[in-house]
Amino acid sequence: MTVKTRFAPSPTGFLHVGGARTALYSWLYAKHTGGEFVLRIEDTDLERSTQEAIDAIIEGMEWLGLDWDEGPYYQTKRFDRYNEVVDQLMAEDKAYKCYAPKELLDEIREEQMAAGLKPRYDANHPRIIEANSNVADDAPFCIRFRNPKEGSVVFEDYVRGRIEFSNSELDDLIIRRTDGSPTYNFCVVIDDIDMGITQVVRGEDHINNTPRQINIYKALNAKIPEFAHCSMILGDDGAKLSKRHGAVSVMQYRDEGYLPQALLNYLVRLGWSHGDQEIFSMEEMIELFRLESISKSASAFNTDKLLWLNNHYIKSSEPEYVAKYLQWHMDAKEISVENGPALTDVIQLVGERCNTLVELAEQSRYFYQDFEEFEAGAAKKHLRPVAKEALELAKAKVEALDTWTTENLHTVIADVCSELELGMGKVGMPLRVAVTGQGQSPSVDAVMQLVGKDRVIKRIDLALEYINQRAAQ
Ligand code: GLU
Repeated sequence: MTVKTRFAPSPTGFLHVGGARTALYSWLYAKHTGGEFVLRIEDTDLERSTQEAIDAIIEGMEWLGLDWDEGPYYQTKRFDRYNEVVDQLMAEDKAYKCYAPKELLDEIREEQMAAGLKPRYDANHPRIIEANSNVADDAPFCIRFRNPKEGSVVFEDYVRGRIEFSNSELDDLIIRRTDGSPTYNFCVVIDDIDMGITQVVRGEDHINNTPRQINIYKALNAKIPEFAHCSMILGDDGAKLSKRHGAVSVMQYRDEGYLPQALLNYLVRLGWSHGDQEIFSMEEMIELFRLESISKSASAFNTDKLLWLNNHYIKSSEPEYVAKYLQWHMDAKEISVENGPALTDVIQLVGERCNTLVELAEQSRYFYQDFEEFEAGAAKKHLRPVAKEALELAKAKVEALDTWTTENLHTVIADVCSELELGMGKVGMPLRVAVTGQGQSPSVDAVMQLVGKDRVIKRIDLALEYINQRAAQ
């Protein structure tokens, strides 16, 4: 049977890292098996679902590159279908109308708690039996699923192994509310049946829903999918991951300068492993991913590791790939890349020094934008009157260069050093500060090559002016 998995977020907020990991595992399993992946928006909770959240989830999935073969489906567009199945269950006496008012259920719940019992709907409670007999024609009711009273529900979870729930623990679930709307646990089952889902990958917070859902599958004589319930993601302090630990929204990781590939690689390892391998290309992830290898224990988020992976992908990915995402940050910083070197060249030169694209954008600025001032500390240290001669000679040699190559620029610097009998630092550092405005950069010859002849000359002039002003003070 062809594998079909799904990601089924409730649009009550942005796409967070926990959701993104679930989506990734589901997606990877579909890709690994040559199956299909469905995106389904579970928006039945009308009060908490927003269009903004739907857009944010789709934006997050697209940014991560987790494409779907079908969908997005919306539960709110399928109410007729859910009602049709409710009617079918009613006709088969597998569901029934319940007239017990909320106040009564609350009272019974309190009684149960006072008696030390687990609060639950008890269809055999005399007061509920009474409430459900001799009812007026127009009395409000909800519809409950007739859960089996005997036996138990057993399923084999990919992550947690054999799981068994006794039916005596499960009460008769409401499947249609008094206002006529279908309930969440019911819609999920109908969707997973109709969409032909074969493996359900979701968070372990849903594990208690699974036996209830399985009973509905059975009542409908539908094939029960397999399940993989993934453990939680914790912050580095061991508490459940929340905003307090920093970014939790996937798009915030974009804003902070992560590459989707780094985040995906980070997420895949957060609760899944293949030996002790840490770096996985997308192809490797797809090839090696197994639901069986998802870890049972909760995983702790580690920002340092994510930064390390991000640096790895910045320096080792195709520069075109990095450029696609760096461009967003250049735009955000209003650095136009039109009048300057190709962004891919800058990435190859500067990328390895940066852990994030935010840093990389900042470190790329001087290739595209002129500056009026030098970084104060660097200028104070390196743009001193003694550097004047070196900068003037370098400028003259640079002006005379016919071919603007890194190699020739390297020779220019070496010649200045030998002609003036100066060490490399006494020439290279003033030049670096002049050309970049700062005290740190990649190799200055390569930087000059990309900055370009006109700009280099203009910036050496600016540095000489600075030195003259300083001397005059
Ligand atoms: N909509 C649920 C959630 O966002 C997921 C339900 C499921 O995967 O079955 O937590």
